[in-house]
Amino acid sequence: MKPTTITQLLVNGDCEASRRHRLNQSIASLAQIGKLSNGGVKRIAYSQEDIKARNLVQQWMSELEMEVRIDAAGNIIGKYPGKYPDAPALATGSHIDTVPCGGHYDGAYGVLAGLEAVRVLKENQIRLDRSIEVIVFTDEEGSMIGSKAISGRVIPDPEYYRRPDGTDIQTCLTRIGGNWNNIAQARRSSRDLAAFVELHVEQGPVLESMSKQIGVVEGIVGQRRFKITVKGKANHAGTTPMQMRCDALVAASQVVLAVNQIGNTPGQQVATVGKMEVRPNAANVVPGWVEMSLDIRDLSSLHIDSLLEQLRTHLEEIAVASKTQIRLNPCLHNEPALAETYIQKAIARSCQKLNLSYTYLPSRASHDAQELAQITDMGMIFVPSEMGVSHDASEYTSPEQCLQGANVLLQTLIQLDSEISS
Ligand SMILES: [Zn+2]
Repeated sequence: MKPTTITQLLVNGDCEASRRHRLNQSIASLAQIGKLSNGGVKRIAYSQEDIKARNLVQQWMSELEMEVRIDAAGNIIGKYPGKYPDAPALATGSHIDTVPCGGHYDGAYGVLAGLEAVRVLKENQIRLDRSIEVIVFTDEEGSMIGSKAISGRVIPDPEYYRRPDGTDIQTCLTRIGGNWNNIAQARRSSRDLAAFVELHVEQGPVLESMSKQIGVVEGIVGQRRFKITVKGKANHAGTTPMQMRCDALVAASQVVLAVNQIGNTPGQQVATVGKMEVRPNAANVVPGWVEMSLDIRDLSSLHIDSLLEQLRTHLEEIAVASKTQIRLNPCLHNEPALAETYIQKAIARSCQKLNLSYTYLPSRASHDAQELAQITDMGMIFVPSEMGVSHDASEYTSPEQCLQGANVLLQTLIQLDSEISS
């Protein structure tokens, strides 16, 4: 049965049997490229596998009669022209590169669901007012150079982008049809992109633990990273009496607990010490020096500031009590990227219409959407990840869940088209 209105459109065609088939078939086909013996996928950016996958996606775009181009950063941009092709487009998409042992869904799902949404519009001979762009961003898992080029935030020094194997960025981009020298031309603005909506697997356990089908992302958390150095005094572990020690590791242990404590105060923040180096790191020496990492994330920059203020006070107390010096040196500062309220509402309304349960949540992982938020209105849709696992061969989201998310994406794009036009 044909849908009577555009707002009843569902992905994957009309028949129930094929509905399960089409989107998930394309996910499975793409996962064949770079397939590992453990079931995972290895498609490092710019590799032969990445290039093969990029070619397949371009072929699928061409079959949908999309206008396909590669920008200077190597981003693949497929455009399904709207009735007003010069109006700012609605964009969706994600990435198809993976970590060295990734799964089938991270990134690829968002790209293929975007293509499926276009496929449904095309087979129903529907053109929205605005063009829809499906974008495959270059090297999300590494430098995020693709989305950073679109937001105009590429670091001008090509050395920064040199690959671990020594290959320079000029060579990498040439391989995929880009051009480092023209990278500034990849920059976009709200004049040609009205909004960007990224569909992605959650890569965390929240939706599954709450038994929710869809996550309406409130934004991508800000992230700050510090190096904490604790300076004590190395000395003989046998001859130095306990009360005369300046044990850097004992102080550092209290720092770890203090970080954990601010992480556990009311709020949605997370705070982690994930890395530690002890010197001289010998069984018979009182540790004289410790360096550790601090990673803290939240949707609100002000909240992060206030947590860090509390932590600093705490560290001063620990330093005095342990007769050590504790220093906090910043090494990374990423501001939060908030999703636009009207896009969150459009996603929530799509869920209501499709009878899907949903909740609002922050994204605590980075995504290309955070760069797009710099230049246009951004929204993100999450579907559950089984056991919260991602960046692993066992990453799994069921075919049914993949369909649900893709339907929300399709309906959100349709809603945004009528909302933004009016
Ligand atoms: Zn991803």
